[in-house]
Amino acid sequence: MVRGSVTVVRLVSAVLVCAGLAACGADNETVPAGPTATPGTATESTQPPPNPAEIAANELGLVPVLMYHQLSPHPAGDYDQTPEEFRDELERLYREGYRPVTAAQYISGRIDLPAGTHPVVLTFDDSTRSQLAFTDSGAVDPNCAAGILAEFAARYPDFNPKATFYINNEPFGGDPRALPWLVAQGHEIGAHTANHANLAGLDADGVQRELVENIRAITAAAPGITVRTLALPLGVQPRDRGLTTAGSWDGTSYAFDAVMLVGSNPAPAPYGPVDPAGVPRIRSGHDTVPFDSAYWLDRLAANPADRYTSDGDPLRISFPQRLTGDLAPRWAAQARAY
Ligand SMILES: [Zn+2]
Repeated sequence: MVRGSVTVVRLVSAVLVCAGLAACGADNETVPAGPTATPGTATESTQPPPNPAEIAANELGLVPVLMYHQLSPHPAGDYDQTPEEFRDELERLYREGYRPVTAAQYISGRIDLPAGTHPVVLTFDDSTRSQLAFTDSGAVDPNCAAGILAEFAARYPDFNPKATFYINNEPFGGDPRALPWLVAQGHEIGAHTANHANLAGLDADGVQRELVENIRAITAAAPGITVRTLALPLGVQPRDRGLTTAGSWDGTSYAFDAVMLVGSNPAPAPYGPVDPAGVPRIRSGHDTVPFDSAYWLDRLAANPADRYTSDGDPLRISFPQRLTGDLAPRWAAQARAY
């Protein structure tokens, strides 16, 4: 059982740290592809959602939150990968019935996916040009991560390629087109500190300054957005962990709905025992490393009952009776155990 192994794996999370020292539209509506799926159910269709038991819906199951760094033809570190490896992982996710949601949607429980599909959160750290760059004509570079996602979505219209980009100041080479373009594409922009700071090395004022200066830069470049989630640089917490969820500096306050860690196991369902101040992420990289995305996607495929499977009804939280104890009380009014 995957569930049983999570506690053990969590013990190694602390030693897996971010290697990103160098810099570092609409919802899906159509056919699911998971092994337990019932094809053809759409949330906006006139058909009622299927019986949750018949599709083994489990909205208290595990959600993989994948962490990506640089794409490069010649990956330098464990956390980097080639564009082709990234395309292959997208193909696998699609084939196995995963559909993306942003980190903000995940933590708030706004997971509106077709019945039988599984949420996956795609996160990118460090705002490098390998993740978003433009050609001379102004089009998105087809070999950067955002370009690969856009091309993938054109081939698979039922795969809405929304991702969460955790950015530092001067993101994507300082290109002013970058953040408005991400917002227009439906991606989430999250905080990763102004200077990719090791927050354990700063005092309380320094921690809050790093976060406020990052948020100010993001909202100046993409007016009107709210920065809802934070990924800790290097996966390192400050001495006062509370400062990662809320604080203020120089007259500007901030609050994050979720704080993303580095490593190394799937995240709990948002309706279950999730800790918003420490959401685990699974790394995806060039080489095979312990508890990476290939390892966990294999484990979840082998243990489908442990994986989050959507019931196709965003207003209802469906799960097997045996998991009732995992439900967070604030979601009880929407719960449908079977
Ligand atoms: Zn980083």
